[in-house]
Formats: sequence, structure tokens, C-alpha cells
Amino acid sequence: MADIIQLLPESVANQIAAGEVVQRPASIVKELLENAIDADGKKIKLIIKDSGKTLIQVIDNGIGMSGTDARLSFERHATSKINSSADLFKIRTKGFRGEALASIAAVTKIEMKTRLGKKDIGTQIIIEGSKIKKNEETAINKGTSIAVKNLFFNVPARRSFLKSDNIELRHIMDEFIRVSLAHPEVEFKMHHNNNCIYQLISTSYRKRIVDVFGKSFNEKLVPITEETDILKISGYIGKPESARKTRGEQFFFVNNRFIKHNYLHFAVTNAFEGLIASQRHPSYFINLQIDPSKIDINIHPTKTEIKFEDEKVIYAILQASIKKALGQFNVTPSIDFSINSNLFPSNTKNTLIKIPTIEVDPNFNPFATKGQFPSKKKSDLEISNEKNWTEVFDNLDIHSIDEQKKPYLKTESRISFQLHNKYILSHIKSGFMIIHQHRAHRHILLNKLLQSNTISSQQLAFPITVNYNSANHELVKELMPLLNKSGFEVKEFGQGTIIIHSTPSFIIESEVSSIFDELLEQKKSNKENLSLSEKEKSLNILAKSISIKKGKKLSVIEMNHLIDELFACKIPHTTLNGKKIITTLTLDELDKRFN
Ligand code: ADP
Ligand code: MG
Repeated sequence: MADIIQLLPESVANQIAAGEVVQRPASIVKELLENAIDADGKKIKLIIKDSGKTLIQVIDNGIGMSGTDARLSFERHATSKINSSADLFKIRTKGFRGEALASIAAVTKIEMKTRLGKKDIGTQIIIEGSKIKKNEETAINKGTSIAVKNLFFNVPARRSFLKSDNIELRHIMDEFIRVSLAHPEVEFKMHHNNNCIYQLISTSYRKRIVDVFGKSFNEKLVPITEETDILKISGYIGKPESARKTRGEQFFFVNNRFIKHNYLHFAVTNAFEGLIASQRHPSYFINLQIDPSKIDINIHPTKTEIKFEDEKVIYAILQASIKKALGQFNVTPSIDFSINSNLFPSNTKNTLIKIPTIEVDPNFNPFATKGQFPSKKKSDLEISNEKNWTEVFDNLDIHSIDEQKKPYLKTESRISFQLHNKYILSHIKSGFMIIHQHRAHRHILLNKLLQSNTISSQQLAFPITVNYNSANHELVKELMPLLNKSGFEVKEFGQGTIIIHSTPSFIIESEVSSIFDELLEQKKSNKENLSLSEKEKSLNILAKSISIKKGKKLSVIEMNHLIDELFACKIPHTTLNGKKIITTLTLDELDKRFN
């Protein structure tokens, strides 16, 4: 049989390598910014057009390249940063594989201009799909400018994998933020479609965090420092009370390189244990300086993963230093540990459990604490209690209920009961049903949103102003049309600020900011849910964020109202993506269990 193995042509090999390095515009941004840092750039400018699909340009005032180096930089495995494998364990630069420029050049068109500080004239190179189109001398400032255009022009399949402009831009901003946090001493600018998104002056680490994430961060930060023989730790952690529902601002840097490390992440979150509620996330900005021979960064194509020689020791030191910082800054006490009390008091063993009677407080607002219920006219208070409850939902009115279709008891004769603030138990004719309270409410809201897109809103006495970093701000802007159709009135105020004037009437003011946090978190993790349409997906996210959650204590009236609302939905038993909302247990089944 004839020999069949062939060496791939260089251009094909490059394209394959590019698959690892260049996943999306943000990967190019990362590589170019890191090269600019490695070249000792002190002023670095990132220019983006159309979320990187049209242009990604990085300009630095670093050391620049000679004409020969400029040409060589596009060869695979061409690097000025290491010479031998031993050097792999001395790495202080971001790059070392000499692969990025070759990979980028394989799938784009690059225009590079570069000049060494001591030379008068620089070099211009144009390369497209790994082929040199131009290589000549040119006048340029000291440093390097690399403009990347026509992303994936020769691999249309990859191009079609790109996500929406907003998503790609968010990834770009994430990379920009990571590099800029790792190097507060460097001045950074970022422009997108001719808008200046960031302008960061050379400054201290603390000030850089504030410049990136907003003024409100200043008072939230607690410094941490620790120096041992093997490790130096510096940076900031967020105060426990500033922990949020979004995972947002969590950064580890090892020798000024952003890394992801689950194990160390646990070291941090465990140090916060007991200080913040579950499902809340502390922010942290932690720098580890460690002898490069004690780590291996050559384990992943994107170089964001790292192996430490002795992880356990690092875990212990990190955790101890965070606890120390929390203690020193006196942030440990004064935390409320109260956990949702269970439905059954612990001393009920010998007493009969009373089935709750329906005690009605006509002024009660299920979602408000005292005093927040929009004041009512006296005549309103005379309306039946259930009606009063309904008003909270306002136009979430109960549809006429088709009694045939609904197997449950009428509101008046129904007995409902909440289990662990999570499930609602209620009589049905044949036995009882158990309702998943969060899914039920979410389902109700989603149905309402899908039907009408109009949910009655309440104007806030004091509009709420919220500041976002650019990435989150873009997200909120994306959500705004939807919010404004769904009972919110949200306005753009510029510079990362939005103002919330109104909210759906069943939302209480003190919950607005955590609802927005959650909305962003949902939007970010926007899990692919193929069974839902785009519109359903967005509305589903909104419904999830504003709906009542497990852990929320409900009154009997609230439970009954929820049940009525649920059965007013076309399909009450399952969510749109097929998850169970109601399960039943019949008397027959129950009888069997006692046999
Ligand atoms: P690596 O960074 O792993 O060395 P790259 O492909 O990213 O590989 O870059 C190849 C080489 O090109 C670098 O080693 C460096 O010598 C040179 N280079 C790239 N970008 C710049 C820049 N902005 N300024 C100066 N030299 C650069
Ligand atoms: Mg590089």
C-alpha cells in the first residue's frame, strides 16, 4: 500500500493553530494587549469597530521591532521571550509560545507598523491569510501599531459562529479589564465605534479598580497583604455586605497575569463563609507574586490556567490572609445570620399541628414591608381580601376560570399550606397538590408578559440611580427595551448610569437592585435554551428575576392567589420548557401508603 501521510502546508497548519488561539475577537484583543505590555508599552490604546468584526487595533509606545523582527514575528514559534525549555520556568512575560501573531495572521488581514526607539524610520507590513502583501519602510511614532481586519475572512464557518455584537463586545471588555487591572501603572484607552469607553490614567491599584468599576467601589474595598517565603499576596477584597448576587468582580492575577483557578476561588469564598448569605458572591482583586519556577502556565492554549507546585499551601496562606484582613478591618461582626425559619417549630412533636386558619390583614402587601404598600383609599380596604391582594398584581387579573378544566377547589373552600417556604400544599378534590412556588410565579409572570407585555407599574417616590461598569452597562442597555415594556421605566443617564423611575407594582423598592443584579447574571449566563424563542428567552430571564423565590414566606392569601393565577394560565402544570410546577398525591395513593 502506498504511503498516505503528508505534511500539512504551512498555511493549513497555521489555520489549525489559529483555531486554538483565535476563538473570537476578544482572543485577539487579549493577545495584542499582552504583546503591548510585554513590549513595555506605558500607553496602550485599543480601538474596536463593530465589536471587533471590522477592526481590532492596538497601539503601544513600547520598544517596537526592527524590520527583520517585524517580519519574523508572523512566523509560528517565533518569539523574543524564551530561548530554551528551561526558560519556560522563568517566564515573567505574558507571551512565550510565539504563536499569537502567526495564528491571527492566518485568519485575518493585519497591518503592522512598528519602530524601534533608536531608529528614525519604521516598518510597515501588511499580511493577509499568512501571505505578505506589503513590507516597506514607513514613518511612525516609536512603538507598535497592529490593526487586525477582516476577521475569519477565509474561514466563513468560524465567522458564522460569532455571537451578537453585544456579546462579542462584552468579551472584549472583559479582556481589556483583566489586562488593565493587572497593570495599573500603564495608561489605557479603549474606543468602540468612535466612542471612548475607557480612559484609564496610570495610577495605584485601588484607584484603577475604582476607575474601572465605579466610585461606589472605593468604600467597599478591604486591602489584603501577606508576604511569606513562597508567596506574596496583595490586593483587595470586597466587604461582606457588598457581596452581590452577580458573580461579577472576581479576579486572580499570578505574576500580573489574569488566571482562573477554582481551587483558589474556594479559598476565598470559604474565608467569607458565614459572613455573606449563600448565593451571594464576594468581589475580590487578588494578586499573587510567586517564583515562576514554582508554577506552570504552559497547560492551556489561552494561558489562563496555571498549576502551582504546592496548591494546598497557597490555599492555606490565601485563606488565612483574607480572614485576617476581614478581622482587621472589623468587618466580621454585625452580620445577620438569621436563616429562614422553618414552617414547623421544633417543639411541635407532641402537639397537634394546627391547620392555619385564614387570618387576613387587609393592608398586607405580599412583597412589601410595612409602609411600602401604595396607600389606598378607604373604600379599597372594604373590598374583599382576595381582591385586595389581586390589586398588588393589578392587571395580572384572574381570568375567568373554566371550572371543568381545573381540578382544584374554589378559593373559599381551599386550604393551603406552605412547606419550608418553598412549596405550597393545597387540597384538591382527589387529594392534594404540591406547587413549586418559584416556578409557579415565574410561569405566571411569563405568561402575562407573553400575552400582553403590559404589567402595571408603580412610580418610585425616589428614582433609583445605578452605576455600572461598561460591560454591565452594555447589558442593561440591551435589556432596556424589554424592561420598559414590562412595567419598568428605566432611563439611560450616560457614563454607565441608569435611572429607574418605575417598577412593576408588585416589586418592592428595596429589592430592585438585587433584581437588577440577578437580571444581569441571568443575562450573562444566558444558557442556551433551544426550546424557547428569542423573545421567550428574554422574557423568561425577566420573569425569573422578578418572581418570588424559594425561601419567601407567603401568607395564605398570597398562596391562594398564586394558585388562582396559576390555574388561569393555559398550561398550569409545566413551565414552557417542560419543567414540573405541580405534582399531586391522591387519596388513593395516600391510603396505599398506610396499608
Ligand atoms: P509571543 O508573545 O508568545 O512571543 P507573538 O506571536 O504574540 O508571540 O509575538 C511574536 C513576537 O513579536 C514577540 O515575541 C515579540 O518579539 C514581537 N512583538 C509582538 N507584538 C509586539 C509589540 N507590540 N511590540 C514589540 N514587539 C512585539
Ligand atoms: Mg504574544
